[in-house]
Amino acid sequence: MLKINDVKRILKDTAYPHTAASPEEMKCLSYLQAVCERIGLTTRVEAFPIERANIRCAHLTVDGTAYPCKAYIGCGSGKVEAPLYYLRDTDALSLSLCRDRIVLTDQPLKMWTYQDMLENGALGFITFTGRYSCPDRDIDQKTLRPATSLGKKILGVNINVKDAMPIVARNGQQASIEIDQEAYEADAHNLIAELPGEIDEWIVLTAHYDSTPLSCGSYDNMTGSIGILGVAERFIKAPHRRGLRFIWCGGEELGLLGSKAYCADHEKDLEKVVLNINLDMIGSIMGKFIACCSAEERLVSFLEYTADELGFPIAARSGVYSSDSTPFADKGVPSLSFARLAPPTAGSIHERYDTPAIVSAQQVVTDIEFIAGFTGRMANAVRCPVKREIPDKIKDKLDIYLNRKRAPKPQE
Ligand SMILES: [Zn+2]
Repeated sequence: MLKINDVKRILKDTAYPHTAASPEEMKCLSYLQAVCERIGLTTRVEAFPIERANIRCAHLTVDGTAYPCKAYIGCGSGKVEAPLYYLRDTDALSLSLCRDRIVLTDQPLKMWTYQDMLENGALGFITFTGRYSCPDRDIDQKTLRPATSLGKKILGVNINVKDAMPIVARNGQQASIEIDQEAYEADAHNLIAELPGEIDEWIVLTAHYDSTPLSCGSYDNMTGSIGILGVAERFIKAPHRRGLRFIWCGGEELGLLGSKAYCADHEKDLEKVVLNINLDMIGSIMGKFIACCSAEERLVSFLEYTADELGFPIAARSGVYSSDSTPFADKGVPSLSFARLAPPTAGSIHERYDTPAIVSAQQVVTDIEFIAGFTGRMANAVRCPVKREIPDKIKDKLDIYLNRKRAPKPQE
């Protein structure tokens, strides 16, 4: 069984950025594959194509001053020069002032925001990441996702917040962006292992293993990857009624690409899947354990009962989670995501501070214990207790999350 020292070693061995479709992704994939085989799991790899680019150059100037920046992968090449506009919010008035300007925005570049900016005549965009309270000046390498651009591209760069603030403070007037990039298609990968059961019904456990460019991805999500490994190990020898399939998903950080590819390529297999259990970040030193269920409400109660039974506090709710459980739910498979959520100042994701230092190997093992307990109950139930049905309320949230519908205006 995975011991505390095994968890520590895996975290240490994989503590480097491993973004989708990079050589480091392959290195991490081979490492996980070797760990699987060492504990007796047979694996297979499934590739799926994603859009990437070589950035040859990226320049941003505001009123003649050059600022360090990184071009958005997938936003195209060229040069644009225009008045600068700081978009503070996405109300109709603020958006209407984007016309013929380069827009600096602190809004996350979601599909609706991007499309609204375009519709209102924005000519280019600047986003920023990082934290004013942290000493680094890292700039995250962002991607203009095809699901965001819908093929409509304007030039965009990302900068550090420590540059964004002075630009706004000095009331920057004129901006220019110049980008040269070469687009290409490359393969990202899912790693899959199976433990067949006594009947042809399956529980699929997922965890993404890719990281974002600045992050070692230890907490997000090597912890979850170790989590499903630990669950798999427990069921290699233990008999179980339902089959267990384990998927280490690639490309989650670019928009759940691995789980979406799996669900699209295995529609027929999904008919036999009664439940998806997804792990995205467990074992943080600080923080509470949560479950977000895209399934009938009774599953939330069941989790609460199981928590009481096993003496493992859990905050369970129903909803849609921004992780690999969502493509499964969207195909009608009851799904849930488990996570241990660190408070923002004691945890870190998508930046250089996500390292083994914020993870407790002991907590990872404790979390695996609970997850395996829950998985065993579901795998060995005489009849799977979770109805194979996604409630309308959840379907509505899926429509919003997957950009098929706009979110209603938040109520005051
Ligand atoms: Zn994650």
